[in-house]
Amino acid sequence: MSDRTIGFLGLGAMGLPMARNLLEKGFELHIAAHRNREPVEELKQAGAIEHESPAEVAQSCGVLISILPADKEMAEVLLDEKVLDGLGRESVLIEMTSGSPDMMKRIASAYEERGIRVLDAPVSGGTAGAEKGTLTVMAGGQEKVLDTVRPVLESMAKNIFLVGPVGSGKAIKAINQMLAAIHMAAAGEALALARKLEVPVEILKEVIGKSSGASWMLMNKLDGLVKGNFTPGFKHHLMTKDVQIAVDESAELELPLAGLALKLYRDTESEAGELDFSAVAAKLLT
Ligand code: NDP
Repeated sequence: MSDRTIGFLGLGAMGLPMARNLLEKGFELHIAAHRNREPVEELKQAGAIEHESPAEVAQSCGVLISILPADKEMAEVLLDEKVLDGLGRESVLIEMTSGSPDMMKRIASAYEERGIRVLDAPVSGGTAGAEKGTLTVMAGGQEKVLDTVRPVLESMAKNIFLVGPVGSGKAIKAINQMLAAIHMAAAGEALALARKLEVPVEILKEVIGKSSGASWMLMNKLDGLVKGNFTPGFKHHLMTKDVQIAVDESAELELPLAGLALKLYRDTESEAGELDFSAVAAKLLT
């Protein structure tokens, strides 16, 4: 099967716009519905081919892409024998979920045993990056595998880094997410203090934007916090999962800020889990 025949599993906030970009770049796209039919209908209108199941998608493609919520779904979908049997030898799995390094290695070993090449390729850049095709890919795997699928990745991403063997993409993504979670909570606290000290938000952004306390979260998420707009975006419960991965991976290494961030996200999960992750700071601002 050709490298231009793509199977795509996980058509959510990230997967749908990524799949759209592949179609726009002329790739043949094979998909299956999970619960929500909306993304499937939209992609079919744009030329995608629908199948009954992930196993049928696997049978129909040379490159299988997955971007699912977490480890549990990665195992459920990708370790299903029917999916494994569906993919031909020499096909490639590009696994883009923000999952754990251990789950990634487990999946890679099941695929590689059957001669299927694997690229661990989580992304950063959010839904806006997914829409514009400007994501950052943190790839773990062999350079020759990355080179085989580079045109596929370039349809979705602007920055593609090969960071080490399979598992290291997920590792660097976990570090990124630990930082992002902490920076988001810190940006919320900065806004709360600015309100208390009567510092206008615009001045805060302008000055700190050119000072040492700046962060991507402070510059990009403050306006949403001010408006109380928590439409996801990147869902809060997915960020909780990401910080949990970082804390689990740290094992006996002490990471007090990551621990505190995890507690903050866990404590706000029942009310904010389905909202944007910036809702972690909502309570500070009421
Ligand atoms: P969503 O929850 O929006 O989408 C998840 C998708 O996976 C949905 O299409 C869902 O289908 C599908 N799915 C769930 N379970 C299964 C299953 N068992 N079989 C097949 N499909 C399934 O998540 P996102 O797109 O936001 O995130 C996906 C991954 O990307 C996560 O790991 C996240 O951490 C990461 N990520 C997200 C970013 C963001 O800004 N949103 C940015 C960077 C990384 P259905 O809806 O039909 O159940």
